[in-house]
Amino acid sequence: MTNYLLLTYDSCRYDVLVAAQTPVLDSYARIYAAQAPGNFTFASHQAFFVGILPNALEDIPFLNRFNKQLWGLQEVGERQVAKESLIRVESSWNLVDGLRQQGFQTVGAGAMNWFRQASLTAGFAHFLFTGRNADRQVEYLRSTIDPRGRFFGFINFGETHAPYRFRGSEAICPDDVRARRMSWPPVERGPTGRETKAFQFQLAAAEFLDQQLAALFAGLPGETVVVVTADHGDCFGEDGYWGHGVNHPKVLEVPLAIFRLDRKPL
Ligand SMILES: [Zn+2]
Repeated sequence: MTNYLLLTYDSCRYDVLVAAQTPVLDSYARIYAAQAPGNFTFASHQAFFVGILPNALEDIPFLNRFNKQLWGLQEVGERQVAKESLIRVESSWNLVDGLRQQGFQTVGAGAMNWFRQASLTAGFAHFLFTGRNADRQVEYLRSTIDPRGRFFGFINFGETHAPYRFRGSEAICPDDVRARRMSWPPVERGPTGRETKAFQFQLAAAEFLDQQLAALFAGLPGETVVVVTADHGDCFGEDGYWGHGVNHPKVLEVPLAIFRLDRKPL
């Protein structure tokens, strides 16, 4: 009886999460670089919910979906890959709906405004739109999921999305990373990447979320497969690009870690 938890750190760059101090996550798994299926929240999460997770470059089962896919959805997606999946579900709607039909509790919490839309949340029996509030999200999953039964839990964390605010943070990020503020054609000027304030602000938010993982995992069964990833990254000035929703390699590069809570192999 395997349970699943999908955790998306919204906008979190791979190089940010690797540079951050994340002792909880590090105690479970290595973080791989992967390519997101979309450049903004809605597109990537729609893909996740049909079983298309970010794809690691290394040829490793489950991390690279062309090797082996975690979730296989019949009737939607790539059937050939689905045959090699850890679990196979049937639904003409999406993975969450298919798991619910198999008897899984489906419980989700989302920070981004996209999660006000039924088109993203309709597969869930229980879904809470929270805005940026990791504490409330963790509490919602912990109070709604009965760990004695099978479950698929999902959280879209918003703290790693600009402006990178989290409980206890008071500083205001001086970099405006919103793509809508870009001038076209983009021209690179000033610091980029890890030289920017935005990098440090997103890193601090990622470290805050690592503490949330400990609270979330406590009391959950060992037979729980956890996916920690991001829906897309952010550009921090590279080639004149800022934020996401624009096609740049730094927008599509995301972290990916997949592990069981009992630390056994998948
Ligand atoms: Zn997003």
